[in-house]
Amino acid sequence: MSASAGMIAPGAELWEGRQRAHPLSGAFGVLARRSASLWPGWARQLQAETGVDIGYRRCGALLPGSPGIVDWLAGHGVQARLLRAEQASAHIPGLVMPQGAAFLPGEAQVSAPLLASALIAAITARGGIMREQSRVVALHRQGDAWHVRLASGDVIEADFVALAAGWAATELHPAAADIYPVKGQALIVDAGAPLDWPILRGGDVYLAAKPGGRLLIGASVEPGRSDAGTEPDMARELIARAARHVPQIASMAPLSHWAGVRPALPGLMPRAGLAEPGLVVSLGAYRHGVMLAPVLAEGLAALIAGGRLDDDIVPFAPDYG
Ligand SMILES: Cc1cc2nc3c(=O)[nH]c(=O)nc-3n(C[C@H](O)[C@H](O)[C@H](O)COP(=O)(O)OP(=O)(O)OC[C@H]3O[C@@H](n4cnc5c(N)ncnc54)[C@H](O)[C@@H]3O)c2cc1C
Repeated sequence: MSASAGMIAPGAELWEGRQRAHPLSGAFGVLARRSASLWPGWARQLQAETGVDIGYRRCGALLPGSPGIVDWLAGHGVQARLLRAEQASAHIPGLVMPQGAAFLPGEAQVSAPLLASALIAAITARGGIMREQSRVVALHRQGDAWHVRLASGDVIEADFVALAAGWAATELHPAAADIYPVKGQALIVDAGAPLDWPILRGGDVYLAAKPGGRLLIGASVEPGRSDAGTEPDMARELIARAARHVPQIASMAPLSHWAGVRPALPGLMPRAGLAEPGLVVSLGAYRHGVMLAPVLAEGLAALIAGGRLDDDIVPFAPDYG
């Protein structure tokens, strides 16, 4: 999660994924929009419980103007308005978007590294025990209990297990057997001054302004790769793609370059719910794990506590029984 760009951008995700028609696309839109609506409360609660400000910012997003985009988004429950090229460049000086842009005021972002720190602090403060660097090698059900075997040889016994091991979950349970990795490389460049920009979604590249004059440029999409290596050619490619929209980016100094791995399932839809008695899964969040975190976390916690799966998650439940 901490490798992520931290965008909570359901409208941009729905628009960019519109050609990948999938039977669950409608249900995904409902899930994504509901999760986005939970984020302001999550950000406030995390700050109250941990003192960590995760940088939630409802900065909006710009997408290239396209005939029918505003009506299409409205039909999917996302508010947007068309801007002429000069109006769009009032949001991002130097922006090259001759066809104008759609502005989606509800899109937001957080700082993914701060979010990861805040979640760890909140879990710990509520009495949760974090065992970092502890690899699970097997999950077995014995009677009414689950046995979680660690690489160290330790076995943890539990009534409920939540399997959320990203692309590597595939080894741990058949419900995760069809997950595959999709590597993503991203960069931070030095913009030289604080930027109050909306997110820019350019199709094959996105820009997300971060505090301290840093600009995040993402991200490659490399299916089948799970290594953490970064390649200078990819950094150059991302900068070139970004500079097609905002030419001054070509002269911004790179500050960091990293790679993360998205967990993907066929159809690029998540899978969440009960996979066996006492085993809850949250799998295949692909490029939406931050955006979907509140709705999946609250829905799966309610399933464990109350035995009933949230109606909005039901379409994504694994085959079971
Ligand atoms: C460059 C990039 C940009 C992204 N930007 C965004 C964005 O803007 N918005 C958004 O919503 N999403 C974004 N994503 C996607 C998001 O990061 C993922 O959807 C999310 O991280 C998936 O969460 P997860 O918990 O399912 O898996 P992961 O984040 O992969 O976490 C799985 C965890 O399980 C651990 N694990 C694996 N196997 C084992 C084992 N056997 N034993 C113990 N632990 C194990 C791993 O070490 C890891 O810590 C981005 C991803 C990338 C790569």
